[in-house]
Parts: sequence; C-alpha cells; structure tokens
Amino acid sequence: MSLATVTKGARHCRHCGREVGETLHTRSSYRVDYYAMHTGDVEPITILRPDDPEPLTVWRLLHVTEVLTCVDCYRLPHVQREREALFRPEAVTPDEAAQSGGTS
Ligand SMILES: [Zn+2]
Repeated sequence: MSLATVTKGARHCRHCGREVGETLHTRSSYRVDYYAMHTGDVEPITILRPDDPEPLTVWRLLHVTEVLTCVDCYRLPHVQREREALFRPEAVTPDEAAQSGGTS
C-alpha cells in the first residue's frame, strides 16, 4: 500500500465518497479512475447590442465547482442525470420553465 500513499491532497468521488486515483498509464493502455467536470453556479445576464433589436441572454459563471465522479458511479443512471443537471442547470430549473410560459 505504501506506493499509493504519495498523494498530494486526496480527491474523492462526489457521489460515493471513495478516494479516487490518478489515471494509470502502462506501455499498452491506461486505466481511468475518475472523471472530472468543471461547473458552478450561473446567473443569466442580458446583453443589448446596437445592431440587434433582440437582447441576448447568456449564462455567466459565478463560482467554479469541480465535480469528481469515480468510474463506478459514472455508469449509474442517476449519477448521469445528476452530472447533467450540474453541467447545465439552466436546462432543468423548474422556475425557468414556468417563467417561459408567460404572456406579454
Ligand atoms: Zn463514486
């Protein structure tokens, strides 16, 4: 076990909590132990452009979050959904869907 203890800050799977290791490379292949995703809190901002009458709404990243998923959890459907929700929060926010149905 001593070979694996040379770690600079242990990293853990967000979903099951187990410690994950770096990708191991051999001469002919490699073994991935986890997947990392960068996401975070976003807020919509509206940009007005002089040459376009339609305002443009974009998502600004407020806080960066790194989500680590071990290879075991990565296969699970509910983990896939959670990652998708974290990656694209604007696509699954119920409030957002309710607001878009308004009339003017
Ligand atoms: Zn896991």
